[in-house]
Amino acid sequence: MASRGWVLAFRSVPGVWRRVAHTAAGLRGPCLRRGYAIGPAQSPPTFGFLLDIDGVLVRGHRVIPAALEAFHRLLNSQGQLRVPVVFVTNAGNILQDGKAQELSSLFGFKVDPDQVILSHSPMKLFSQFHSKRMLVSGQGPLVENAQVLGFQNVVTMDELRTAFPVLDMVDLERRPKTTPILRNDFPAIEGVLLLGEPVRWETSLQLIMDVLLSNGNPGTGLATAPYPHLPVLASNTDLLWMAEAKMPRFGHGTFLLCLETIYQKVTGKELRYEGLMGKPSILTYQYAEDLIRLQVERRGWVAPIQKLYAVGDNPMSDVYGANMFHQYLQMAKREGTAELGAGGLKKQRPSATQSCTSILVCTGVYSPKDPEPMEPAQRGEEPPFHGHRDFNFSPGLMEASHIVNDVNEAVQLVFRKEGWAL
Ligand SMILES: [Mg+2]
Repeated sequence: MASRGWVLAFRSVPGVWRRVAHTAAGLRGPCLRRGYAIGPAQSPPTFGFLLDIDGVLVRGHRVIPAALEAFHRLLNSQGQLRVPVVFVTNAGNILQDGKAQELSSLFGFKVDPDQVILSHSPMKLFSQFHSKRMLVSGQGPLVENAQVLGFQNVVTMDELRTAFPVLDMVDLERRPKTTPILRNDFPAIEGVLLLGEPVRWETSLQLIMDVLLSNGNPGTGLATAPYPHLPVLASNTDLLWMAEAKMPRFGHGTFLLCLETIYQKVTGKELRYEGLMGKPSILTYQYAEDLIRLQVERRGWVAPIQKLYAVGDNPMSDVYGANMFHQYLQMAKREGTAELGAGGLKKQRPSATQSCTSILVCTGVYSPKDPEPMEPAQRGEEPPFHGHRDFNFSPGLMEASHIVNDVNEAVQLVFRKEGWAL
């Protein structure tokens, strides 16, 4: 059900960030001490990093200088990482290989595609749908992305509207000029993949609804909408994101909100997801843990990774996600089982990981220098919750374990905590 409360992650509510900053600063100030004692190098590593990309390593196409310093610390003399690192981004309209190549050229060392998690990467785990005929929504290299994820039989929105020209009727210019022949040889669609925000929202919203209401046969009409409806997998629930504009831009979370609202209004029932992925979903962190484990095996490190440090710039996705995963780890350890909320695999996963620590940096979305907030609470109003409907709001999950200026300070903080040489 929809969650309420006050949140979270964007410049439109700077006061909330500031409040979080003040809270977390009680644990450790925003600027770290330099020149602390250097301990002996420890090998093999028992900790790893989950690094966000935008706002932590880069801003647009520009490298954040602190990231270069951070990698200088993280690489050994052979140019290899001294500890396992996974890059976790909520971007999705690109290819994993392309992102790895981009990072490699920006930072001057080899980043393997298996070190990069896009918002939809955990869809690789949903093999039960990989042979199904799936309608795919988004933009960029959509079909290629779906295939990389394992989906062998995908239908694009354009293919669907070409097969059924009478469905897409909002844009007068795109309506058929003549009465098309209705076809009945189009194989039924068996599920929906929502990889990222599409370009023509009215077309995608209409056709996805048509597929759900017709049980995958949009050329027909059903008297009653089937429920539960066809499986829907979605990635990236970010409501808004920051680009060059002063105000935030619509993210894929806004598109999902539209779809959920339309479905609820039309059918009286709730749109359900088989999986929601991308930060802050637990699935994404479980997947990151798998990739950390893979790196450890490839490097021949024998010690299991016990601690993860998640560095990000967005309190809603990076801090909330890391803290929720930490909670999950504690619960799994305590109860031996993991009953997760939306987006969870709901299965027990043996894991050596004991903790996931959130570290918030000030080089992206979050800034401690934001002007004094317009505190909605002070005006007697309830601030808006920007998280997804299926993620329950918990104010404690917004509080970072540490706030530092940049990713270089984050690496220094972790190395010091772990007794590693800087
Ligand atoms: Mg970011």
